[in-house]
Amino acid sequence: MDFKRTKFGSNKAMGGLGKSLKSREEGETEVMISLWILPSLVGGSVLYFLSVDQWHRVAAWLYGSGLTGLFITSTLFHTAAWKISHLRKVEQRFHMCDRMAIYFFIAASYSPWLMLRELGPWACHMRWLIWVMACVGSMYVFFFHERYKLVELLGYVAMGAVPAMVILLMQVERSGVCELAVGGVFYLVGVVFFKSDGLVPFAHAIWHLFVAAGACVHYYAIWRYLYLPRPLLQTSSISAK
Ligand SMILES: [Zn+2]
Repeated sequence: MDFKRTKFGSNKAMGGLGKSLKSREEGETEVMISLWILPSLVGGSVLYFLSVDQWHRVAAWLYGSGLTGLFITSTLFHTAAWKISHLRKVEQRFHMCDRMAIYFFIAASYSPWLMLRELGPWACHMRWLIWVMACVGSMYVFFFHERYKLVELLGYVAMGAVPAMVILLMQVERSGVCELAVGGVFYLVGVVFFKSDGLVPFAHAIWHLFVAAGACVHYYAIWRYLYLPRPLLQTSSISAK
């Protein structure tokens, strides 16, 4: 996952040593992200098997695919940046896919909440609107990749914030909102490291760690509040008292 990486411009100043360090960092980042592919597959499957109806199953499919898709595209991009960075065109295509996957990952992360919770008559339109937003974001990446950084950033912020507002306004059932917010904070702190790429050692790898932490918290909330059978949820909350 990468919002802004180009051709490692700082490498020029760093010379050959900088290049080898950057290449090592890229390799370690790639290995680290790839480790999340299998857990995300297992996590998506767990939700699928806990499903009690069609809505649950569709939401599990969407969320599991978004989660796994993110780690796969991110791994592919970092592998390309590590191994075939001399093939600029190819690397750029992987970079674009990496960017598009972020939009679909955000849409997928919100889908279980939007599909399985009771929303108001207007808010329920967010269920499909979020996928339209992901498609528009992806088309933007396709046509204007790396051209207007601020627009890109605003696109991701809007994609993250608009459905969050809808969920925060849920009146009937509000459990899990706290975990959603904590996951969001992980992503935001991660962005600080993301922006420090080239200034802080392994900043980009740390950014990915924060993304993984945010995804873990969100997964936990979805599993616990939307998929765990009600009797089990009640039993666990009684025993915790
Ligand atoms: Zn990345």
